[in-house]
Amino acid sequence: MTDPTKPAVRLTELRKSFGAFEVLKGISLEAMEGDVVSILGASGSGKSTMLRCINMLEMPDSGQIEVGVEAIRLTKAGGTDKRQLQRLRASIGMVFQNFNLWSHMTILENLIEAPIHVQKRPRADCVAEAEALLEKVGIAEKRNHYPAHLSGGQQQRAAIARALAQHPKVMLFDEPTSALDPELVGEVLRVMRALAEEGRTMLVVTHEMSFARDVSSKIVFLHKGAIEVEGSPQDMFAAGGSDCFRQFLSGGNGLN
Ligand code: ADP
Ligand code: MG
Repeated sequence: MTDPTKPAVRLTELRKSFGAFEVLKGISLEAMEGDVVSILGASGSGKSTMLRCINMLEMPDSGQIEVGVEAIRLTKAGGTDKRQLQRLRASIGMVFQNFNLWSHMTILENLIEAPIHVQKRPRADCVAEAEALLEKVGIAEKRNHYPAHLSGGQQQRAAIARALAQHPKVMLFDEPTSALDPELVGEVLRVMRALAEEGRTMLVVTHEMSFARDVSSKIVFLHKGAIEVEGSPQDMFAAGGSDCFRQFLSGGNGLN
């Protein structure tokens, strides 16, 4: 059950450099269970790197990451405990801009691969659950098709279903609609909206301002690797925010 008094994700003073270039300059962020946090910011501000650090696709240089009650230990060598890393990855569902489905597997196979082979759950359960998830995202009839035979919007809905099949505690979305033709954006946003209404904890990097405004519990604006301003959608889109954020909104990223 969702408990909005419990932190689902907490980042503390997260730092990451690529060579001499500091991409994340001490990011601290908290999402409670059921929160939908929209992460906004110009290209290059560090949004993807921040999400990738949360599930350790990118190793942060310093700072702390907590998912649920578990704090992720970083070793001096920049590594993590292998089993802890596996637990962390299983508790986080990630959805990428370019869908990243396995092209040589059918949609159903994409959904059951990790639950069967990584999580070692019984195949029949995984198949039944995968079919229910495909139904939920509206592409049940595509289960035996290969990704290339689906539209972008259908592929992204399949990717969301694949992430859900692992029973994640938190869902991370990195510009999930940016690669889609405009007419396909709505069907993906509808699925995301439904997940938010179910009380799922979601961190969403997006340029969809109406989604950010209408669905988020919190908006975070990243500028040059730091959180410049954050607040409720009401505050951020009304008088609040910052000069920089308003400039961002008026620079072609405004409400649409
Ligand atoms: P955003 O998602 O907000 O567009 P990113 O997190 O992708 O920003 O990138 C932030 C900055 O870090 C950019 O300047 C980018 O070029 C740089 N960067 C990202 N990944 C790497 C990498 N693996 N090696 C070197 N530089 C990187
Ligand atoms: Mg990015």
